[in-house]
Amino acid sequence: MRDSEQLLKRLHEIVDRPIRIMVVCGAHNQAIMRYHLRDELPDKLELVAGPGCSVCVMPAGHVDAFVKVALQPDVITATCHDLLLVQGSRESLASIRKRGARVEVISTPRDCLELARLEPDKVIVYTAVGFEATAPSVAETILEAAREGIDNFCVIPSIRLLPPTIDSIMRDPEIGIHGLLCSDHVTTISDTEAYTSLAKKYDLSCCIAGFQKDDIVRGLISMVMQIRHGVSLFDDSSAIIYSSEDSKKARQMVSEVFFAVDTAWRGLGTIAESGFVIRDELSLYDATKRFNVRFMEGEERCSCHCDMIISGRGLPPDCPSFGMACTPQNPIGPCMISSEGICASYFKYNL
Ligand code: SF4
Repeated sequence: MRDSEQLLKRLHEIVDRPIRIMVVCGAHNQAIMRYHLRDELPDKLELVAGPGCSVCVMPAGHVDAFVKVALQPDVITATCHDLLLVQGSRESLASIRKRGARVEVISTPRDCLELARLEPDKVIVYTAVGFEATAPSVAETILEAAREGIDNFCVIPSIRLLPPTIDSIMRDPEIGIHGLLCSDHVTTISDTEAYTSLAKKYDLSCCIAGFQKDDIVRGLISMVMQIRHGVSLFDDSSAIIYSSEDSKKARQMVSEVFFAVDTAWRGLGTIAESGFVIRDELSLYDATKRFNVRFMEGEERCSCHCDMIISGRGLPPDCPSFGMACTPQNPIGPCMISSEGICASYFKYNL
């Protein structure tokens, strides 16, 4: 019997009660769909999605800020592909690009510095969207720009922190989640202590797993065993281990550049200390200060059920628009736009 068959057999043997696991990370949700893993799980083991797709949780007000800055004279907006189609209150970066705004798709924040050197008469504005794992590379780019005296580059920070948001979701007594499957992406910077205290506070099993099928099944086995033994702990045995020196350096850079403030999430409201802003000492690199733009509430124009999906209260087929009015060709909400969105993954691998 192959390893993965043995692991699945073990999982079937040990699931002896209804268990609901939140798959926090968008990349994990994508992998689970790609492997059609739900079809092979015990009936009593349910996997629901969490808030770990950064484009899916972006509120319209943040897109409005990106659009407003992108329409300023002599600005080049540098962004990721997934963000282009996400709708603000009226426009998206894609719609203003069609009308002539200069919006470039880049791969890494450091590409912005190259662009800034090539276009000295323009201001390069980077839409920094992501979770805590994104923060070190953005911080490093800002510090490099400061060191080299590059002043035609700045950032609109929309970087979110998962532990406070998971905490907020878990406060709902109806949520019925027994465990959190996390990825090493989000725990490289987040103190694992944050997940350990979440596990204790809500009596959750918790595990970090890699993205291969066997890694995920191993993680699920670990969580089911924790539940059976009535222990809440944070198991990172299957994670890729980062050297503590790398983590320390990354944390230092992040705290040199950012601090946490209350931040709005699409469908989840404003959550205390759940997002990063740039410190005043580096305000030259903060596009919101440079262009005097504030993140407003923003009007969500779509009739999307992403809030239900990203908080573990339902899966894409529970949305009446899924696969009908909402498809990857005609997406209604960001969960269908983003490549890591659960609706996009469900559509791609299930229909
Ligand atoms: S299927 Fe479309 S409308 Fe429904 S939750 Fe997903 S993205 Fe939103």
